[in-house]
Amino acid sequence: MSKMLISGGNGFLGSYLCEKALDNDFEVTVVDNLSTSKERQVPKEATFVKKPIEKFNTNTRFDFVIHLAARPSPEDYIKNPLSTIDSNDIGTRNMLEIARKSGATFMYTSTSEVYGDPKILPIPETYFGYVNPNGIRSCYDESKRFSEALIKAYERQYGLDVRIQRPFNVYGPRIREDGFYGRVIPRFIDQALRNKSITVHGDGKQTRSFLYVSDWVDATWKFLMNNRAKGKVLNIGNYREISILELAELIINKTSSRSKIVHLQSREEDPKRRAADITQVRKILKWEPKISLDRGLEYTINWLKEKKNL
Ligand code: UDP
Repeated sequence: MSKMLISGGNGFLGSYLCEKALDNDFEVTVVDNLSTSKERQVPKEATFVKKPIEKFNTNTRFDFVIHLAARPSPEDYIKNPLSTIDSNDIGTRNMLEIARKSGATFMYTSTSEVYGDPKILPIPETYFGYVNPNGIRSCYDESKRFSEALIKAYERQYGLDVRIQRPFNVYGPRIREDGFYGRVIPRFIDQALRNKSITVHGDGKQTRSFLYVSDWVDATWKFLMNNRAKGKVLNIGNYREISILELAELIINKTSSRSKIVHLQSREEDPKRRAADITQVRKILKWEPKISLDRGLEYTINWLKEKKNL
């Protein structure tokens, strides 16, 4: 039986990856400190170790080492800059060492934030980014960029099989939805279902492209299992670029809400546009996103309605 180690396996994305690995008869070990979780969602068939990834030691040899542990929500990571950095410096180094000793395939979930406030759209992997090295978001975007450098150093120095993905705004059921932590989609849905004001930061003209979680799982699995993907850095995202204002209106319509849009102060250093160029991932993995934003929002709305009894 192949063995897979997943850091952050209790999180939104991690829990889906655990399920996928278990369905494929992998033996799964999860290391997670539950720092961004409200509840445990690691499947019971997986071995669960509650620890920060920086402090995890093991003599087990794994076939796959996946480093997912991160604090990806801007409102959360700007309040916790040091632990955000820890999972991307010490944490990445620790996971790389485990992979090196095992001779494992190593995968890192980087982020579209490595591109900062991009000047080229849609963004190809070859774009180096436009990032403030000491700005409010640097604890996340710069530490993710550092991780990528560390991973490439392991590849160059030890010949480790490494794969780096850059997901673009993944959403869907199980994304943390409480007001403080919530990313834009779960927050707007929650507000709309309660007929509360929809809080758009700034003029709402900033854009994102959103990827539904099942598409992310499919792409990730293909990326892990396809040997032609060894050493690649791939964007994983969806085509449609939408403004935050349009997103707010779409969610109001889909929930038949009486909510009104209110404009709050812009977030500091909020990227103005973000859209994925997915030419490479389509070509190399023969993968296409299947779930449209409309359909994905409906699934997410239904999940939240049920969860919160709304
Ligand atoms: N946003 C917003 N209102 C909110 C939360 C987020 O207008 O209550 C906007 C935010 O300014 C950003 C976009 O939604 O432009 C995406 O924010 P999120 O926190 O989901 O992630 P990001 O893509 O910035 O990492």
